[in-house]
Amino acid sequence: MPFQASAVFAAALALAACAAPRAPCLSGQWMDLTHAFSKRTIYWPTAESFRLEPVFEGMTVQGFHYTANRFSAAEHGGTHMDAPIHFAEAGATVDRIALDQLIGPAVVVDVSSRALADPNYLIRIDDLAAWEKVHGPIPAKAIVLLRTGYERFWPDPVKYLGTAERGEGAVAKLHFPGLAAEAAQWLVTERRIRAVGLDTASIDYGQSTRFESHRVFAQHRIPIFENLAGLGALPATGAMLLALPMKIAGGSGAPLRAVAWVPGRQAGCRGFPATGR
Ligand SMILES: [Zn+2]
Repeated sequence: MPFQASAVFAAALALAACAAPRAPCLSGQWMDLTHAFSKRTIYWPTAESFRLEPVFEGMTVQGFHYTANRFSAAEHGGTHMDAPIHFAEAGATVDRIALDQLIGPAVVVDVSSRALADPNYLIRIDDLAAWEKVHGPIPAKAIVLLRTGYERFWPDPVKYLGTAERGEGAVAKLHFPGLAAEAAQWLVTERRIRAVGLDTASIDYGQSTRFESHRVFAQHRIPIFENLAGLGALPATGAMLLALPMKIAGGSGAPLRAVAWVPGRQAGCRGFPATGR
């Protein structure tokens, strides 16, 4: 849930924005774009699900309360990041990705009306061009967030993934929208984006067998954020995304805590430096 930023955060943001051409925003909201991890969290049919096991809960012999758990899961499930090495042999592992690739101004491209009508929908360059007609060109170094509307089906795997089956045989039954490979290439070469994310289980649509959009982004060192939540609460432009993965040494991906700062509406404010890295 969103909450008002504290005065301390607002002051920090104002300082961070000192290089921006317009005045910073002193009011705004933090939005959580992360699904909580639990036994209901959606994982790829072949991946190990999230497990939380109690280690201890209760009163210790010394007379104080103590709680601790252990957890395990595949890297790629729930709200998570794909590091470039996931689909590129020489790509960076999750611990080697620079922070400035994970933090930046976000644009939200809402294709939900078309995607919700077709579980095999491919987001195309046309969709991105239509967004640009309204909002102007996607700026260089933007983080592009694609909203398909599939978040509303979480955590029902039948509606969200197309199947609740598990195992290798379930992969062919996956049906959810994703980004067409030529649109991925266009975002990389024509718009030089910083990172990309969406509210489905994979940047490639469910019926993909070649994972071409994954490969395009991996080859260009672009992090991918998957299973994002709350994109419907973000403005088309103006939010600042912070997508911080668990820093797994050698990881091909990791659970992610993604949040966005949405500046207040006072005239002319930017809230965060909107460009540059
Ligand atoms: Zn992944």
